Amino acid sequence: MLLFNSSKIKIQSIQFNHYSNNYTIDILRLDTIDTIISGNKIFKLQVSIQKAIQKKTIGIVTCGGAYSNHIVATAATCKAFQLKSIGVIRGEQPKTMNHTLLKAKELGMELIFVDRSTFQNKILLQERFLMNGFEWIEEGGYGIDGAEGAKEICNFIDETYTHIICACGTGTTMAGLIKGAKQHQNIIGVVVLKGYEDIRKDVVKILSSKEQNKPFSFMHDYHFGGYAKHPKNLIEYMNRVYQQHQIPTDIVYTGKLVYAVEELVKLQYFGSKAKIMIIHSGGLQGNASLPANTLVF
Ligand SMILES: *Cc1c(COP(=O)(O)O)cnc(C)c1O
Repeated sequence: MLLFNSSKIKIQSIQFNHYSNNYTIDILRLDTIDTIISGNKIFKLQVSIQKAIQKKTIGIVTCGGAYSNHIVATAATCKAFQLKSIGVIRGEQPKTMNHTLLKAKELGMELIFVDRSTFQNKILLQERFLMNGFEWIEEGGYGIDGAEGAKEICNFIDETYTHIICACGTGTTMAGLIKGAKQHQNIIGVVVLKGYEDIRKDVVKILSSKEQNKPFSFMHDYHFGGYAKHPKNLIEYMNRVYQQHQIPTDIVYTGKLVYAVEELVKLQYFGSKAKIMIIHSGGLQGNASLPANTLVF
């Protein structure tokens, strides 16, 4: 059961003409659900929100970096369900807060800035808030509850698809897709954190042994320099994707994701009978931190 209105989710076809692929490439537009609650985040949050409501907890506490879509999404979702939200943010409070943090604050989230070593000590942080009656969500929404929520994304992907491709931060959304996919469907994760080879372990940790045997793989070459790095060639690519396909993407995840898919098509990675679903996981609010007119959309 979904906790939100999914009627705006749609599937759009993409044709990367110049590579004459004759197979189907579709994109699942979760970005259309909401402008603030990033597409995959509402799926990832639903189990925790349900638990918080059932247990009659005061609210939700979670943590993340200053540009975390998860932080804003948690703030917005808690507000919608009349729960308190606390965001523990890594690092000192910046003199001028970025768009993401301002938005979270505006949505009623209490922001607590902690230094890096305190931030690392999650157990201590967690104990402090659990004691005070809050539901705890791991950094970036990582965990089994998140993956169980994300599993429901597969309700929008029928069994004719051979490949499902998503962007990975913590890998929780990907774990959910693996859980929900049919045995013959290949799940590919485009990793946006540079050198995050351990992502496989972190994904496997939140899968059952049966789920671990499904086909999935990671692409590590499309991070464009690292998390939230957005060089000029990425920006140009995102503008082109918008002009050619009318698909807005974000600088942290989905711009890199669509780029990776186009590269894989070019490299003839997929067989001629492939039917590919790209997961547009949203994240568009993150673009607001760019200087005006950087993007054409
Ligand atoms: C958070 C986010 C992701 C990554 O999700 P994980 O479950 O942490 O891997 C992907 N795309 C967008 C747009 C996001 O905001």
